[in-house]
Amino acid sequence: MDTEVLIVGAGPTGMTLANELLVAGVSTVVVDKLSQRSDLSKAGGVQSRTLEALDQRGLLEPLLATGNHPIGTGHFAGIALPPNLVRHRLPWRFVPQVVIEGFFEQHLAAQGIHIRRDHELVGLVQDGDRVTATFANGVTVRSRYLVAADGAHSMVRSLLRAEFPGRPGTSTMIASDVRLSGIDQLMSHTWNDDGHFAALFPLGTDPQGRELRRLVLGGPDRSLPREVPVTEDEIRDGLRTVFGARVRLLELRYARRITNAARQVTRYRHGRVFLAGDAAHVHLPLGAQGMNTGMQDALNLGWKLGAAVHGWAPENLLDTYHTERHPVGAAVLRNVQAQSLLMDWEGTRNPDVAATREIFTAMTQLPEVQHHLADMLSGMAIRYPMPGAEAHPLVGRPSPDLDLGAVRVHELLRSGRSVLLDPADTFAKVADLWSDRVDRAGQGADTEPMLIRPDGYVCWAGSADDLEPALGRWLGEPR
Ligand SMILES: Cc1cc2nc3c(=O)[nH]c(=O)nc-3n(C[C@H](O)[C@H](O)[C@H](O)COP(=O)(O)OP(=O)(O)OC[C@H]3O[C@@H](n4cnc5c(N)ncnc54)[C@H](O)[C@@H]3O)c2cc1C
Repeated sequence: MDTEVLIVGAGPTGMTLANELLVAGVSTVVVDKLSQRSDLSKAGGVQSRTLEALDQRGLLEPLLATGNHPIGTGHFAGIALPPNLVRHRLPWRFVPQVVIEGFFEQHLAAQGIHIRRDHELVGLVQDGDRVTATFANGVTVRSRYLVAADGAHSMVRSLLRAEFPGRPGTSTMIASDVRLSGIDQLMSHTWNDDGHFAALFPLGTDPQGRELRRLVLGGPDRSLPREVPVTEDEIRDGLRTVFGARVRLLELRYARRITNAARQVTRYRHGRVFLAGDAAHVHLPLGAQGMNTGMQDALNLGWKLGAAVHGWAPENLLDTYHTERHPVGAAVLRNVQAQSLLMDWEGTRNPDVAATREIFTAMTQLPEVQHHLADMLSGMAIRYPMPGAEAHPLVGRPSPDLDLGAVRVHELLRSGRSVLLDPADTFAKVADLWSDRVDRAGQGADTEPMLIRPDGYVCWAGSADDLEPALGRWLGEPR
């Protein structure tokens, strides 16, 4: 075997997974077909749950130190969600995807994981105990597991002939990063009677302090294929048609066409091969969710692969990657569908849509509605289906970042091991049986007892009788 886990694709999903496997002490090879990192501007919004995950690995502070990454205003269908009502510990930040990828690449290299570039996967065979991947450059890599983090047009997905149901793209629009003059609003949503559309979203400021925006633009003809390059004139004409002569393009930094295709693979696991990130789910980039969902797929899968490689994974642990993450991806696709309807992405100009948007916009003034949407988009509302969830409200949810006196929960998780909070100091004997996989902490702290998995999710809380079965269920046989 050349490596334990082969990760195909060095985007945010693949690199997050490589870091999780590094923390788990598993040998990993990361490959990418590109000869150098892409500088395409894609994601910019990093959601609360992803920020928490980075913090749990000690990476948040150094990532934020790479530049000015301000707290941003989230939105649903282009309707702003006021930042003062975002009640999460780590609210939404602007960190461009290119910065995240560069940061991870450097961090991984410093730990000895160098991305093997110019490696385009073209073939894949798996048998009972290994996967053999072949590359266009003639290289062959054998691994115990393979993770497809190779993006929306995943070659691994095609080779597996994995079912990928959903909706094909029916129209394209332009997504661009621009500097504009003549408009103060940072977020807007405008339809013209002739079928032109423009939406603006804030992207923070560049190092010179100049305001950047994401401009999504559509003309009456949305049939242009994704591959047709976007011209600067097209953007100037679109701006003029929607806003008149007052709004000017000062600078175009990047533009591409995006489609409204929405698909999700039926199965995230195919034997020894797992699909993650855009390889598993594609949808319109609305509400800053694609990259975040992919990075959280990686967080869920990493420690489970680590457990399998180290030989202590309980039966079916690897299957829980699908049962936990597929519903999350499906929920993202659904909310993106609702957003594209409220934005009238198809350009139907149906007055019913405008009426619905008006009422929905008014409802988003209600704190309850804002909380619901912010929890949903941020990933903080995620609750994995697991035994005990019906009996205790914390089970299946991201753990609260409790202050345990000398240390907080997210700092304990940096080890990549599970954490057992034992406020009454009564679990020493049972925890000792799994002492190579779990750290006991929080003696005397003002908290309920709970077991937190390496990915930061509570998997047991409350009744002491159930603790030993829960340890076995998640951490395998005792020592
Ligand atoms: C305009 C726009 C704005 C967006 N904004 C946001 C946002 O604000 N927040 C958010 O969360 N998401 C956003 N997204 C979505 C986000 O960019 C994607 O979800 C994210 O890039 C997915 O990451 P990934 O690692 O799964 O795939 P990718 O980033 O696509 O990475 C896949 C990698 O695999 C490599 N690869 C492909 N095929 C092969 C092969 N055969 N062999 C080897 N390597 C291969 C590629 O070169 C690439 O490096 C946006 C997307 C767009 C287009």
